[in-house]
Amino acid sequence: MPAGRYAPSPSGDLHLGNLRTAVVAWLLARHARSRFVVRIEDLDPACRSNRWVDQQIADLAALGLEWDGEIVKQSGRFDLYHDALDTLTRAGRTFECYCTRREVQDATRAAHDAAHAPAYPGTCRDLSLAERRRRTDEGRPAALRLRGAPDEVTFVDTIAGPFSGPADDLVIRRNDGTPAYNIAVVVDDADQHIEQVVRGDDLLAATTVQIYLGTLLGLPAMTYAHVPLVLGPSGERLAKRDGAVSLTDLAAVGIGPELVLARIGASLGLCEADEAVTASALLDRFDPSAIEWTTWTVDPADISTPRTR
Ligand code: GLU
Repeated sequence: MPAGRYAPSPSGDLHLGNLRTAVVAWLLARHARSRFVVRIEDLDPACRSNRWVDQQIADLAALGLEWDGEIVKQSGRFDLYHDALDTLTRAGRTFECYCTRREVQDATRAAHDAAHAPAYPGTCRDLSLAERRRRTDEGRPAALRLRGAPDEVTFVDTIAGPFSGPADDLVIRRNDGTPAYNIAVVVDDADQHIEQVVRGDDLLAATTVQIYLGTLLGLPAMTYAHVPLVLGPSGERLAKRDGAVSLTDLAAVGIGPELVLARIGASLGLCEADEAVTASALLDRFDPSAIEWTTWTVDPADISTPRTR
């Protein structure tokens, strides 16, 4: 059965922007009568903290976003990602790259037309066996990069509309052997029968490479919905420094999860900001074609103030 998903990285508390994306992912999945799964994206050892995993799961439950099946963690699925990396390598779609991040940045900056230079200058794309040996002998660890697509990839996002962009020579396995986000997400979405990918629109540009990877691996196509960011009072992406923006912080100033859900629902035009609503009440009113998908500018001082109706 097709599914939608919410896939947080456990690197901290979910803030209103993350929570709003989770609500939208849940609404779109349930509206489509799909399953809804939660996946913890903890590839990076630095963000494998059970504290945040537990907190994030508790926050989703507190908003009433119930999910189906077990919550999957990427840290337990490396074999699947390595299999996909092997498939791509056997098909000649990857190359080993010995460049440091610094070297890539310097080469890109030095490019003749730096503004339009690709993210990776191609340094290691065509190294001979002897050249690769020399780098290994120098003690340089190799990352694995995708051989990027010759042409731009185009797709139509459910929220953002038509989008085109390159599928560059991205790192798909880091030089410490960790599979990169872009390969893991593609493998997991297919494995979990995801039909609709819903996430923050900071990942819109990453979609082209994911579509390309899916095509190379022969995986089914999916639809994408990139939810506009939530901005803080300064007009920049909402962040913790802006004040009380997580469920825990807001609860401490008397704004419980029901009111947070109402604030999020109001930002989507589904309810009043102080209305007593539940997730299923929002679902009853939800019509994706009627939503005005705009960025939501939040002033935490305002969010934390009860309104009079
Ligand atoms: N783990 C990513 C995040 O928390 C989302 C990735 C995705 O949904 O594809 O921003």
